Amino acid sequence: MIGITILGSTGSIGVSTLDVVGRHPQRFRVVALTANRDAEGLAAQCRRHRPAHAVMADAGAAARLGELLEEMPSRPEVHAGPEALETVAALPEVDYVMAAIVGAAGLLPTLAAARAGKRLMLANKEALVVSGEILMRAVAASGATLLPIDSEHNAVFQCLPADYGRGLGGVGVERILLTASGGPFRDLPVERLAAVTPEQACAHPNWQMGRKISVDSATMMNKGLELIEACWLFGTQPQHIQVVVHPQSVIHSLVQYVDGSVIAQLGNPDMRTPIAHALAWPERMSSGVVPLDLFAVRRLDFEPPGLDRFPCLRLASEAAAVGGTGPAILNAANEVAVAAFLDRRIGFTEIATVVARTLDDLPPEPLRGGGLDELLGVDRRAREVAEQKVSYSV
Ligand code: NAD
Ligand code: MG
Repeated sequence: MIGITILGSTGSIGVSTLDVVGRHPQRFRVVALTANRDAEGLAAQCRRHRPAHAVMADAGAAARLGELLEEMPSRPEVHAGPEALETVAALPEVDYVMAAIVGAAGLLPTLAAARAGKRLMLANKEALVVSGEILMRAVAASGATLLPIDSEHNAVFQCLPADYGRGLGGVGVERILLTASGGPFRDLPVERLAAVTPEQACAHPNWQMGRKISVDSATMMNKGLELIEACWLFGTQPQHIQVVVHPQSVIHSLVQYVDGSVIAQLGNPDMRTPIAHALAWPERMSSGVVPLDLFAVRRLDFEPPGLDRFPCLRLASEAAAVGGTGPAILNAANEVAVAAFLDRRIGFTEIATVVARTLDDLPPEPLRGGGLDELLGVDRRAREVAEQKVSYSV
């Protein structure tokens, strides 16, 4: 039996992971589940999947979970706080860790799984954006297996040869084509973007996702974060990656080779496909996803991204190109700005303004070799500056 920890099990990716795992009870055993505040949701998951450990973000939520599980026979050990997340990501009886906490909050437990040499199934792209070098080094040092869950990166992984680790040039790759749906506002007149609501931003045309990534898809910051993510995962630079807007979300990404071949991965937009791929790799197993019907899809469209409409994509591309502290500042400012938009404290187009002004105040610098502490300091400082920018815009 393969032991699994799911970090962020009550979220969109967490729920899809439990759905796939539940289809293969003879193969997987859930060791630990974690959630931020949703004690009711985690209690229901504990009753169904019977983990040995359950973690809530704080003591109050953990106490509530403990009460909810009081009657459960052989109930899980309940823990609270960020250190407990790191502990359950590194337990000896855990083989695979699904990193599905949203935002930089997922960084430390994700890193703990990498350091402990687990199969790390990475959905938490922000962890890689903030600390790509540290995370990739930890994976290499411990012999952990890093498998991408983000649908685009999982697609690229499936389109690459097994030995791509020796360098994309060495295996004949010319460039990566990263597809993007363009989100709910792809065709909205630009002058109407300022007035869109959180509800409209979270109504993605093709994917059911958490609120933060839904807003990131609407601004296309998501694609910018994914550009940085792809550079780390596949050892390449932004100039070798082309973003392609593909509204149907059927092609999840493509790899173009020097001989003119282009290899794509297709499927219905359902995260259970990349999740099942990573759980079974190098084998395949069923995921519950409806098979793709090309006759129903009928046509596939492609267009270049409009950088005027999507300034966040341009800001992320610039941060990717300068590197250093740039991606960590970009990510922190974006997390603050998206939370402010979801709280209706700023408008949709102000998300990009807050990120741009934060980067103006904190110009990216080369990393000084201070490791994780340095990056956590950059993240903290960028959040403070971004909060100021939010309060100026109200
Ligand atoms: P979500 O908001 O639905 O779920 C987030 C999970 O993290 C929840 O279980 C929540 O309780 C937990 N969490 C949030 N803040 C926390 C904190 N401070 N401490 C501990 N736990 C915390 O998000 P999601 O859509 O499932 O996305 C999760 C990650 O996967 C994100 O990084 C996202 O970018 C990435 N991702 C998601 C999708 C998707 O289809 N949803 C696709 C690709 C990548
Ligand atoms: Mg994606």
